Amino acid sequence: MNNLQAINFANKILKVNKIKSHSLDSELILAKTLNSTRESLLINLNKKLKKKKFNKFKKLILRRKKNEPVAQILKSKEFWKSSFFIDENVLIPRPETEIIIEQFLKFTSKNSTKHILDVGTGSGCIIISILKERINCYGTALDISKKAINIAKYNAKMHHLQNKIKFINIDIDKFNHNKYDFIVSNPPYIKNIDMKRLEDGVRLFEPHLALNAGLDGLTIIKKLILKSKLLLKKNGKIIIEIGENQKYTTMKLLQINGFYINNVCRDYQTKPRVLVATKTF
Ligand code: GLN
Repeated sequence: MNNLQAINFANKILKVNKIKSHSLDSELILAKTLNSTRESLLINLNKKLKKKKFNKFKKLILRRKKNEPVAQILKSKEFWKSSFFIDENVLIPRPETEIIIEQFLKFTSKNSTKHILDVGTGSGCIIISILKERINCYGTALDISKKAINIAKYNAKMHHLQNKIKFINIDIDKFNHNKYDFIVSNPPYIKNIDMKRLEDGVRLFEPHLALNAGLDGLTIIKKLILKSKLLLKKNGKIIIEIGENQKYTTMKLLQINGFYINNVCRDYQTKPRVLVATKTF
């Protein structure tokens, strides 16, 4: 069997099982099996595939068939300009979260020396991407999950930022240290009732701790805003990702707590997704 035949074989299995991105997934998973890249695989389609490699590939394809996300099978996901290690203990970085990075860059200059707090860091994708762009800034990253903190630390090391970010396994409620110039966060914001409506790949494989936020989906956002009043310097900014239909409530919460709304950013589906606000007192 050669690479092309293996891809066709996998493609058929995934297609029958209604995996929409079947072609791309088959190619990415074969490339991973060969410790290679998709580009290099595609110029070596006629190359023979060893039986052992094929069996390994088949196992991974059967995982994908059951809707396991490709990022978890590959153990990696691209976000902003870098690649991050991920597994089932952290949320898979999403393209819309890159808006947080864009906004941070917009509100800071190249040589600024800001201290940033990342709440619910997960894989660390937000704080690491920011610090790669703003080399004089430094960060503190919190997560309630010890396993997530270990992954974020690993990613920071991979990107040579381990000395610039302090990682702490703690709930924001119990964290009272320092005053920050920026707070960035992609908190859990999905309502209890919507959890069971998530697509299978997300619902069955991604950590619910990173997704679910009570009856109204706003419990974590609320506590984050209240806590930000204490943890931000005067004129400090919060850049926060929100869920569907949470724009008005979140804006209201920010305003009654003394924040000025700088920006409401829409995602690629034109839904309001990221809010930027300044603490005015
Ligand atoms: N900050 C991480 C991310 O954006 C994790 C977010 C989360 O777990 N809710 O991917």
